[in-house]
Amino acid sequence: MSHHSVHIHPAVDDGVKRGSESFTGGKLYCHCSSNQVEVTVDAQCAHNHVCGCTKCWKPEGALFSMVAVVPRDQLRVTANEDKLEVVDPAAAIQRHACRECGVHMYGRIENTGHPFHGLDFIHTELSYDEGWAGPEFAAFVSSIIESGANPDDMSSVRSRLQELGLPPYDCLSPPLMDAIATHTAKAKGVL
Ligand SMILES: [Zn+2]
Ligand SMILES: [Zn+2]
Repeated sequence: MSHHSVHIHPAVDDGVKRGSESFTGGKLYCHCSSNQVEVTVDAQCAHNHVCGCTKCWKPEGALFSMVAVVPRDQLRVTANEDKLEVVDPAAAIQRHACRECGVHMYGRIENTGHPFHGLDFIHTELSYDEGWAGPEFAAFVSSIIESGANPDDMSSVRSRLQELGLPPYDCLSPPLMDAIATHTAKAKGVL
């Protein structure tokens, strides 16, 4: 497999788009043809990345999802909230999905002790607004094998990610892993 034939995600396959410094948020829509769920975000996103885990929503044919965070108090559902349901109530991140089209509109952490409590996870590709901060890295790359990717293709996948300027990690990026460890150390009284 040549790494040019690797389809990471439609939003990055032709090159990663950088965001706008002056962008202050926008609206996200599910994929229903009518009565779309609408989510309004009053902030630029942070830590946008492509993710290879098996839990994040991804478009048809993509190896990776694309996911970012925003402060939870700056996100609200502004239309057709009754169509949302939590995919897996037992998961740390509760993904609120449209029960008709299956698109995940936002993921929320209700455990106040979780390192990322206070942040909601969103997919900026669900927005028509231009200027969202672009993805910066690739998380949980090895996990795409759990969704059926051929293990023999992994070096092509990692080469393509490098070429796109998305450093591949098999967990989260070093700054986010440091943030989790710092939270844990403070909770234990080590720091
Ligand atoms: Zn929908
Ligand atoms: Zn994920």
